[in-house]
Amino acid sequence: RCFCKLNGEIDDCSCKVETLSVLNNNKIYPRIKSLLSRNYFRYFKVNLKKKCPFWHDDSRCALKDCHVDTCKEEEIPSAIKKGSSAYRYSEEAQKEESCAEEKELSALNTTISDESIQAFKDWKEHDESQDLFCDIDDESSADSEYVDLLLNPERYTGYKGESPHRIWRSIYQENCFKPQTEYIYGPSKSSSPLCLEKRAFHRLISGLHTSINIHLCADYLYQENLGYGMKAHWKPNVAEFQKRFDPQTSNGEGPQRLKNLFFTYLVELRAIAKAAPYLQEEDFFTADSDEDKDVRQGIDDLLNIISTFPDHFDESKLFAGNPNEAKLLKDEFRNHFRNVSRIMDCVGCDKCKLWGKLQTQGMGTALKILFSGDDIGPDSTVNAQQKKHFQLTRSEIVTLFNAFGRLSKSIHSLEMFKSLLSKS
Ligand code: FAD
Repeated sequence: RCFCKLNGEIDDCSCKVETLSVLNNNKIYPRIKSLLSRNYFRYFKVNLKKKCPFWHDDSRCALKDCHVDTCKEEEIPSAIKKGSSAYRYSEEAQKEESCAEEKELSALNTTISDESIQAFKDWKEHDESQDLFCDIDDESSADSEYVDLLLNPERYTGYKGESPHRIWRSIYQENCFKPQTEYIYGPSKSSSPLCLEKRAFHRLISGLHTSINIHLCADYLYQENLGYGMKAHWKPNVAEFQKRFDPQTSNGEGPQRLKNLFFTYLVELRAIAKAAPYLQEEDFFTADSDEDKDVRQGIDDLLNIISTFPDHFDESKLFAGNPNEAKLLKDEFRNHFRNVSRIMDCVGCDKCKLWGKLQTQGMGTALKILFSGDDIGPDSTVNAQQKKHFQLTRSEIVTLFNAFGRLSKSIHSLEMFKSLLSKS
């Protein structure tokens, strides 16, 4: 019955499942949980009305639990709005930006026409978007709205059947790397092995899928008939968990899917460690000085624990071969991941779409930190010629921490399921 008692090394990493569980459950989970309840992290601006770019699908989830409650603009602290990328389009920010650009342009020491200024701007935008691993919603769009994540928790919604299957199928079948064999879900049964980068891509997606499915099992909806009406209860569903992850009911794949969760966690953990010098400089400003101070202390505390962890994922092993081949592989990796982020606009349940978009954006931010060159982190070298300085928007920081928080909660929930299974 103890199929979820995983042990041994996490594939392609030098870290054991047991070590990571202890670190997460004892140190990281309580800290990240507390941080994510703060104003800086709880408001996320998202466009849930974007059209699915890949297929026509009108099927909307009519279930009550798929619904997302959005916030009114006036409920959001103005300092948070100022920190959003929508602020970039405001007059004040445009003024600041054009001053900075003028300085950059005058350093070129040439006679500048309007066209070359536009070309410079286009080039800069293009250059910045090259680093992105996912499509990020335009926060200035009228369809983008703030959501209070604490009021819209990720949990069982009843979203099932063809619509989610089509999403997962199109992610694994068309956007996950796999050897050319008959299509199967999960790790390949083919004899031709995938290279490290492609294996990593598959594991990242599978780990995210595992995490989403653990959350719906951990926070499952039970309806109690009180005679005069139904009352909703949210509690763990052990049978649902067992059905999804027991080798006997998951075609033997359950334990590997659980291990993939640890892999995804390790990758995002390493991204946060690598971004630590940058995050330590961030002010997490919400204009509430006590709260902001607490958040900065909480971040420092978490980063200290993460930075001293000895068995981090080693991203330098990826894209390390012949530079031309590595570049092509990285472009392919980035394009596939961008497609996965776009597929999230096809999810037919708003609550699932909200968390799907947030978690893919957070994972995209982690990939940007790990693979956009060494502009930050311990090996930081700023490329003076290109004047490229690593930057994260508030939205990227919020999604990175919330996505990591979801994985952390999933690993924590495994302990709960282990204990419930041992009692049943
Ligand atoms: P699914 O989870 O739909 O899986 C489809 C197939 O993929 C399985 O048959 C299996 O062969 C394979 N598979 C399963 N897990 C893995 C894995 N970890 N790695 C590799 N292959 C795997 N439902 C909710 O109740 N709440 C949510 O918040 C929620 N969020 C979602 C977000 C997204 C982006 C999507 C696409 C779906 C979401 N769902 C959510 C739906 C949920 O993920 C399942 O699709 C649904 O519960 C139906 O489950 P299933 O047992 O049919 O298998």
